[in-house]
Amino acid sequence: MEPLRIDHVGIAVNSLDEMRPFYEALGLKSNGIEEVEQQKVRVEFYPCGDSEIELLESTTEDGPIAKFIEKKGAGIQHIAIRVPDIKAAIAEMQEKGFRMIDTEPRYGAGGASIAFMHPKASGGVLIELTERK
Ligand code: ZN
Repeated sequence: MEPLRIDHVGIAVNSLDEMRPFYEALGLKSNGIEEVEQQKVRVEFYPCGDSEIELLESTTEDGPIAKFIEKKGAGIQHIAIRVPDIKAAIAEMQEKGFRMIDTEPRYGAGGASIAFMHPKASGGVLIELTERK
C-alpha cells in the first residue's frame, strides 16, 4: 500500500444546513452539495488544507447514515485514506487477509473511486480507501 494522505474525515450529521454556520465559522468553505443516490446521502465537502471534511446527511430513514446516527448518534463515521491505485489497494489488503466491504471500487462523491474496509479489520473504525484523479 502507498497511502498518500488522509483524504477526508466523514461526519454523519442530521442536517447539512444546520451544520453550515459552524463550519463557516471555522473559516471553511463548502464545495457545494452532491446527492449520491446509491448511498442514500447528500454530502457536502469542506476543503481544509490538504484534506477535507465530508458531511453526510441521510436522504432516507433506512439509509446507512440514518442507521449510523440511530445507533451511535451524529459524529465521525469514517476516515478516508487516499491511495494512488484503488484496485491495487483492495487486492493488497485482501491478500494480507483483511476484509473489505467493497471488493470492487464504487462511485464516491466528487467522482472519486472508493472502497470501504470491514470495520472488524480496523478495530471498529470504518476506513474508506479513495482514489482521485
Ligand atoms: Zn467519505
